[in-house]
Amino acid sequence: MSTLDHHDWSFTTAREPASFAACQETDSPSVEHALAGSATLCGIRQDQVTVYRHPFFAERAEACSECRKAAADAPTEPGVQERLHGRVEVAVPGSLRDELLEALRKGADVRLWVNGPADRMVRHYAELDRIVDGGEPIEAVLRGGGRLGLARVVHGAREFVVFLPEDGATFVARAKPGS
Ligand SMILES: [Zn+2]
Repeated sequence: MSTLDHHDWSFTTAREPASFAACQETDSPSVEHALAGSATLCGIRQDQVTVYRHPFFAERAEACSECRKAAADAPTEPGVQERLHGRVEVAVPGSLRDELLEALRKGADVRLWVNGPADRMVRHYAELDRIVDGGEPIEAVLRGGGRLGLARVVHGAREFVVFLPEDGATFVARAKPGS
């Protein structure tokens, strides 16, 4: 979704409701609770619950009323642009980085953000033939192996690819717009 036309867009307006894993008490699985770290929001210890892979849905009939209330009161969480901005702030300095930071503050479209083995991430997601600027460190990332985060951000006619190696410095490359 493009947010270019939203003049009131900000990290604050883009924050998302807190999300929790759903769980049930292992010995009495009828009510669904929201798990936050080592206990449910209503205070049941983690070792007494079975955790599900779906999130806690407060609107469901089987949702624990105490968890529902606590989940509604939980602080919101940063949206994807704010989270990526935090990572790019500590990236290798340069004009591309600054351009991307500004774009993220304006609600640029984070089309993709994946993590995995560096060679696979580059092969499947980097689209090296479209990178026109800032891609020099990619060779070193590939040689280093390890895991790599890769994000693609589009803002108007500009497109950025962010490389977030687990064991190295984050850097920003520019891609020529896709057809
Ligand atoms: Zn509960």
